[in-house]
Amino acid sequence: MVGVLVLGNHKILANLRADTITVETPTREAVRLAVRISSRAHRISLRIDPTGDGAVLVVPEGVPFKQAEHFAQDQAGWLARNLARQPNRITFEDGVILSVLGRKHRIRHTPDQRRGVWIEPAQEVADAATDGETGHADLCVSGETDHLPRRVTDWLKRQAREEISSRARAHARQLDKRVAKVSIRDTSSRWGSCSSSGALSFSWRLILAPESVLDYVCAHEAAHLVEMNHSPAFWRLVRGLVGNWEAERRWLKRNGAELHRYG
Ligand SMILES: [Zn+2]
Repeated sequence: MVGVLVLGNHKILANLRADTITVETPTREAVRLAVRISSRAHRISLRIDPTGDGAVLVVPEGVPFKQAEHFAQDQAGWLARNLARQPNRITFEDGVILSVLGRKHRIRHTPDQRRGVWIEPAQEVADAATDGETGHADLCVSGETDHLPRRVTDWLKRQAREEISSRARAHARQLDKRVAKVSIRDTSSRWGSCSSSGALSFSWRLILAPESVLDYVCAHEAAHLVEMNHSPAFWRLVRGLVGNWEAERRWLKRNGAELHRYG
C-alpha cells in the first residue's frame, strides 16, 4: 500500500510495506496493528481499538516507518496485556460454540460428572426454525469452573496432535518420506513449518479450522520434506496429495486471525 508521508515542505509518496505493522508479544503471539498516518498527531501513539479486537498505531506525518515499527515493538508487553482484556476474546466457557474440524460444538459444563472432557453427539433437530441446520454436538467438560478453559484447551491440543500427526505422517508416506517428529505449538505467524532435519511443527489452532484446511497444511509441510521451497514442483506435490489447495489457503488468509481469538 502507498501512504503519504510529509518530509519538510515536500509531500512525497512513501512506499509503506503495508498498512499494518506486526509486533511479536512476549508470549510469542504476533499482533497486527492498523497504521493511521495523522497530520494532527505530534507523537506516535498506540491505542486499543474499542470496537474491534485489534490495536491502532497513530503515526504523525513524516515519521519514518522504521521508527514507528520500533515504537510498536517496545510496547509489545502493554499490547499483550490490554488485548487479552478485549471483549472480542472468546474465552472457553459454558455455552460457547466452537468449530472442531469444521463441526460445531457447544461447550457444556457438567461439574458433577467426573469424566474429563468428552463429546456428546448432536441430536438431529427436525425444526423448521433451525433452517435445516443440524444441532450442535456438546463438548462436555467436568470439574470446576476455574479449570474449564484449561481443560478445553488441553483437549483441543490433544485432538490437534492426533489429527495432525497422523495426517502429516500419511502424506509423508505417500511421498516416500518419514517425519522425524511432529510438534504442536501455539505459533501465530505460521500455521506450520518444516525443519531440514525432517521435524514438522504446527499450530494447535488448526483443529478449529475446517478439516480440509488442516489437511492442506499437513500436506504442505509434508511436501517440504521433498522440496524445501515453494517452487512449481513443490505445489505439484501438494496437489498430488490433496488436490486443489487454493480455497484452503484463501480460507486461512481470511479467517486465520479469527482462530487466535479463542482461549
Ligand atoms: Zn511452505
